[in-house]
Amino acid sequence: MILKTLKDFNFTGQKVLVRVDFNVPIKNGRITDDTRIRAALPTLEYILKQEGSSIILMSHLGRPKGKTPELTLKPVADYLGGLISRKVIMAPDVIGPEVEALAGNLKPGEVLVLENTRFYPEEEKNDPDFAAKLSRLGTLYVNDAFGTAHRAHASTEGVARLLPGCAGFLIEKECAFLDKVLENPAKPFVAIIGGAKVSTKIAVLESLLPKCSSLVIGGGMAYTFLKVQGRRVGNSLVEADFEGTAESLLKKAGELGVEILLPVDHLVASEFAESAKAEPVDSLDVPEGKTAMDIGPKTVQLIGSRIAQAKSLVWNGPLGVFEFPAFAGGTQRIAEFVAACPGITVVGGGDSVAAVNKFGLADKIDHVSTGGGASLEYLEGKALPGIVILKK
Ligand code: ADP
Ligand code: MG
Repeated sequence: MILKTLKDFNFTGQKVLVRVDFNVPIKNGRITDDTRIRAALPTLEYILKQEGSSIILMSHLGRPKGKTPELTLKPVADYLGGLISRKVIMAPDVIGPEVEALAGNLKPGEVLVLENTRFYPEEEKNDPDFAAKLSRLGTLYVNDAFGTAHRAHASTEGVARLLPGCAGFLIEKECAFLDKVLENPAKPFVAIIGGAKVSTKIAVLESLLPKCSSLVIGGGMAYTFLKVQGRRVGNSLVEADFEGTAESLLKKAGELGVEILLPVDHLVASEFAESAKAEPVDSLDVPEGKTAMDIGPKTVQLIGSRIAQAKSLVWNGPLGVFEFPAFAGGTQRIAEFVAACPGITVVGGGDSVAAVNKFGLADKIDHVSTGGGASLEYLEGKALPGIVILKK
C-alpha cells in the first residue's frame, strides 16, 4: 500500500497534531519500558526541525473508565521532555477551552501533550464531534501510532478525515517491512505461526498459506492439528470447535503444495505449571495424562533447517510456554535461528516480540513490529482503518 508520508508535506509554520502510541508500561509513576516513546522520536524530530512548526501529541494509555487520574500521560510527557531538547507542556485535558488556549499559544519548537484520549468514551466510538474538536487544535495530522492503527478511533481515524495528513516514519517502516513478506515475498518464504490458540491465528494462517513455501505451526495450537492427523495429544491444548478448520487448512496446503511443519517431538509436563518438570517425548504422540508445553529438539532442528534456507520469513507466536523457564528453550532456539537467518526477517505479535527481547535478539532481526494486534491484523491481510485512510 502506498501511503502519504512525511516527505510529501511541508511542516514549516504548522501546528501538527501527531497521534503516537505512548501506551507504555508505568509502575509507581515510572516508565519501565520506553521502546514506544523512542520509536516515535524520528517523526517528532523531523517535524520540529522545520521552521516554525510545533506539535500537539495525542495518545491513549491503558483502559481508563472516564477520567482516571492514575492513567494520566503526565509521566510520559515528563519523560519525553528528558529525551528531546524541547519544551514539553502537559495539557490538563484532551479537549476544551483550556487545551485550545494552550494549543493556540504554542510556540515554534514546542510540544503539547494532550491527556489520555481514552478519558473520553467518544474516542473509541470514533465520535465525529470529538474528532472535530481534536482536529481544530492543529493544522496538519500525522499518525505514527502503529500499535492502534487497527482501531477506528477518533484520534486514529476520525481526525484523519478532517485534516490533511500522512503516516509518520514508524507506520511507514512497519508497512514497508510487512509488505515485503506479504506482497511477493522472496522464496523460500517461511512463516512460523505459534501461540496458544488456533481460533486467534486461523485468519493469519489462511492469509499466509498461499504465499509461503513452508508453514510452521507450533505452540499450543499445533495440537489441534496433530489431533486431526490422528495423533494422541494427551492433555495438550485442543480446540474441538476448530478441528474442522484445521483439517481444511491441511487439505488446502496439500492442494497448494505448501509444506506444513508440525512438532515431531515435544517437551511435556504432568501439569500446566511453572514448577512442572520438563519431560522430553521423542514421538509424534503425547502420552496419556501429559501436556505438551514446548517443541522438542528434533522439531527445533527441522524448523531450523528451513529457517536457514529462507529468503524471507515472518514469525508470529511463541512455540512453547516461554514464560516458564523450563519450557522457553524451543522458542529461544528458534529465535536464534531467526536471528541468524540470511533472508528478510519480520517478527510480530506481543508475546513473540517479548520473547525476542527477553533473549536479547531483537537487533539481529530485520524488523520487530511495535504492534501486537495491529501486526497480526496486517498479516491477516486486513485493511487497518488508521492506515488505509492515509493512502495516497
Ligand atoms: P503473540 O502475542 O506473539 O501473537 P499469542 O498471544 O498468540 O502470541 O500466544 C502466546 C501464548 O501462547 C504464550 O502465553 C504461550 O505461553 C502460549 N503457548 C505457547 N505454546 C503453548 C503450549 N504448548 N500450550 C499452551 N500455551 C502455549
Ligand atoms: Mg499475545
